[in-house]
Formats: sequence, structure tokens, C-alpha cells
Amino acid sequence: MRPVDKGLFQGNQESYLTYGDAKDDLITALGCFCSYCERQGFRSALDVEHIQHKDNFPALAFEWSNFLLSCTNCNSIKGTKAVTDTLLPDRDNTYDVFMYLEGGFIQVKPDIDDDLKDKAQALINLVRLDRVPGRRGYLGKDTLWQNRKESWELANRYLQKYQNEGCDIEIIIDLALGYGFWSVWMQVFVDFPDVQKELINAFTGTQKKFFQQILNL
Ligand SMILES: [Zn+2]
Repeated sequence: MRPVDKGLFQGNQESYLTYGDAKDDLITALGCFCSYCERQGFRSALDVEHIQHKDNFPALAFEWSNFLLSCTNCNSIKGTKAVTDTLLPDRDNTYDVFMYLEGGFIQVKPDIDDDLKDKAQALINLVRLDRVPGRRGYLGKDTLWQNRKESWELANRYLQKYQNEGCDIEIIIDLALGYGFWSVWMQVFVDFPDVQKELINAFTGTQKKFFQQILNL
């Protein structure tokens, strides 16, 4: 999951009159992507997401610090769940703890320490990021798994092109921005830090402090 830094964007307010007012600022800060599943959305398909649910934490209902962007699927699955003992993309390095398998399926890396593993799994469970047909939490007509798989396949096709023909990085970035699933593209191009560097820079609001090694290459 793409770690993000909302603090990089200076045009926001700390507090909003209605939380809907924050949507455009969030899109400017983070791009038009669901902060959890990373799918690319159009404006009306994304909701202002309250990290701590507004019913349970009314004092945080209008606070920038409590906002992310969410697609309607992730938002409805998360519901009013308590957000405790979980990693969060605006606070933690949510890139390093997950791995994406063939087809774009997500799972927690097996080789991280147990506490981190539990918190990463809690984040998957929070929005059921591993939802696929037949598994718990899957709702019919939810095309997340399919969209992620398509992005995985597209990224792999362009990886082949990149390796064989040296296709332009710009095309790869344009496709990644158009389809979303930043983490899938980062994983597929894991051996090509020059592509990863552009992915980190091109997706607005990516938390750069976790990627200094790549960015300094
Ligand atoms: Zn989502």
C-alpha cells in the first residue's frame, strides 16, 4: 500500500466546515486514488474517508489529520470498525510490509517481525484488501481483484517491453497513473529503481522519506 504524506500539501485547512469540503484538497494532495486499495477513481467515486469513524469520534469528523480518500467499496467494508493496532498509510511504511503475488494478490511479508506482521494483517482486514470471489468479505460486483489483476498483467507486459526494447519510462508512468495500483507497479519493476523512482515522484503525495535510497540513485 502506498505510504502517503498529506503534510506535503500546504493548501489544506486543519479543520473543515463540512468534511465534503476537504475532498478536492485531498485529491490535490494524494491524487485520484483510493488510499487503501490504490485503485484509480474519478472524483465522484471517491469518498472523504474518516480514519477514525465520525460517529465514534465526532471531534475528528472535520479534521484534516483524520482524512484519507477511499473508494466506496473500501469505505463500506471499513464501516465503523475501530482503527487500533493497525498500520496506516499516512503514518507508517505500508509499502515494506506487503508483497504482491502473481495476479496482484496481496499478503503480509512472512519475514517481518511478529508485531509488525499483526499490524499489517490488521490493515488488510480493515478493508479486506485480500477480497476475491469466494473469500470472506467479498461482495458481488466488487471488481477490485479484477482491476488489480489487470494492472498486474499490464505492468508485466510493459516490464517485458522495458527489458526487451527499452520502452519509454514515461509510458509506464502514464499507464500506472491511469490504472492506479501504485504498489503493483512498484513490485513488478522491483529490479528497476529508475522506474520506481519515477513512480514515487509521479504519484503525488507519496511519502518520500521511506524511499530515500531509491530517490538518491
Ligand atoms: Zn478502495
